[in-house]
Amino acid sequence: MAVGRPEKCHNRRSWDQQVFKPGDRGRNLAAMFIDGAWIAARSGRDFAVVNPATGDEIGRVPDGGADDASDAIAAADGAFGAWSSTTAYQRADILLEAWRLMTEQADELAELMTTEQGKPLRASRFEVGYGADFIRWFAEEARRLTGEWLPSARADQRFLTIRQPVGVVAMVTPWNYPMSMLTRKMAPALAAGCTLVLKPAEATPLCAKAIFDLFTEAGVPPGVINLVTAADPAPIGEVFTSDRRVRKLTFTGSTAVGRLLAAKAGASLQRVSVELGGHAPFIVYPDADPLNAAKGAAALKFLNAGQACISPNRLYVHRNAADAFVETLTKRVAGLTTGNGMDDGVGVGPLVDAAAVEKVAGQVDDARTKGAGVPIGGERLTADGLDRGFFYAPTVLTDVTPEMTVYREETFGPVAPVVVYDDVDEVVELANDTHYGLAAYVYTESLKTAMTAFEALDFAIIGINDVNPTSASVPFGGMKDSGLGREGGHEGLDEYLEIKTAGISLR
Ligand code: NAD
Repeated sequence: MAVGRPEKCHNRRSWDQQVFKPGDRGRNLAAMFIDGAWIAARSGRDFAVVNPATGDEIGRVPDGGADDASDAIAAADGAFGAWSSTTAYQRADILLEAWRLMTEQADELAELMTTEQGKPLRASRFEVGYGADFIRWFAEEARRLTGEWLPSARADQRFLTIRQPVGVVAMVTPWNYPMSMLTRKMAPALAAGCTLVLKPAEATPLCAKAIFDLFTEAGVPPGVINLVTAADPAPIGEVFTSDRRVRKLTFTGSTAVGRLLAAKAGASLQRVSVELGGHAPFIVYPDADPLNAAKGAAALKFLNAGQACISPNRLYVHRNAADAFVETLTKRVAGLTTGNGMDDGVGVGPLVDAAAVEKVAGQVDDARTKGAGVPIGGERLTADGLDRGFFYAPTVLTDVTPEMTVYREETFGPVAPVVVYDDVDEVVELANDTHYGLAAYVYTESLKTAMTAFEALDFAIIGINDVNPTSASVPFGGMKDSGLGREGGHEGLDEYLEIKTAGISLR
């Protein structure tokens, strides 16, 4: 039923009120952004956003549907002609202003992120910086949007290529990195001259709203960026993948949903990028310093409570190093404080929801039943008010074997499964024995071992004695069931561009 728009306003930074003034609760807040206006859903419905550390409702956002998605696509389509005709210099200037604003507002944005998504404040600040860096990177790349002048087999012919924006882009993003996963898509799309419609995850629409606020404040014109929030994503996905005006779909999330949307988008012959799940191996070779490797593993595994697509899910440790590795890892885990990410000293926040806690507990219980050791963790945390949120203790599992669910399925939680191996010639084969192909990590002192593993691992991102192998300046993406396409780097811009060829006769 089309009932019109119950609310319409242009209030910048309205997420401030939504998050920090509980009195706003229950109102049908205008938090969808279509054609330059903050509006409510056509249905008039909304849904709650919850702080995963406390279970408290922190705001409400419009529950958009298929008709809202169509409106947003119409706005993006209408704005495409003018936006794609701006110069790369103009687009770069707007993006640089968005980067400046995001950097300037880092503290407020980080607080919003911790309140809505749960990660510790320090980690939120890091994500804001990481997310902002994509905007700066693609502002710079925008001005390097060149073509080529090419030779022909015919003496009297030349070829010219130019790169042009693909058109309207539909974007679907996850909750685990609720700002950087948006800027990693929006910045290159805008740099290329595309217009866009974005649907954020149900759990983190307020972070999305904040990102739209700052792009708008930076000068992105009405209609160029459009935000549709929804409690049920499926109808939006249907519209995104079937509307002829949408020329590209870019998705970050689970492999199951990515596969479904990519198939539908493929049927419409939309261009497709999908950044999906992972099951990263972390290989400790016998020549590596086990203490250094264990410190690296502890720092990486418990980031964002393990809710990262590049989180290690199988820690292959050579038998000679295993005792020292597990001892150091366990000590490090014992030193982690789990709690509300807004509190000082907290290193591990909550999981996203009750279902995530169930999933993690299920994997740990399965491993325990099948013979895994649990030197630390292995339980939900409920004391001292943590029962209000969704907490699971940082956990180490030992003696993990391929029969255990955790060995095969992405955990997306704070669990470090250690697998002891004996044969260095076999460990890459063990690591590659997965449908996923996103990130892998190698600890060794030998350049030869590192380079051999780098080339042989069927994963697109390899950390070599390094636990942070990502940056705006390098391509990020997956092989196999971890996805199609790359984000970041100069490759990230190509995903939003068509190449046109002109054959020119000199006769
Ligand atoms: P998810 O697939 O459940 O949701 C991701 C997004 O898809 C959300 O916005 C959700 O609303 C939407 N969605 C779900 N069903 C849909 C449908 N039928 N139609 C349209 N949209 C739909 O994933 P999640 O739990 O939010 O995110 C975690 C997953 O994301 C993990 O598997 C993680 O590895 C992956 N991830 C990958 C990367 C990467 O770059 N490769 C980065 C972050 C997260």
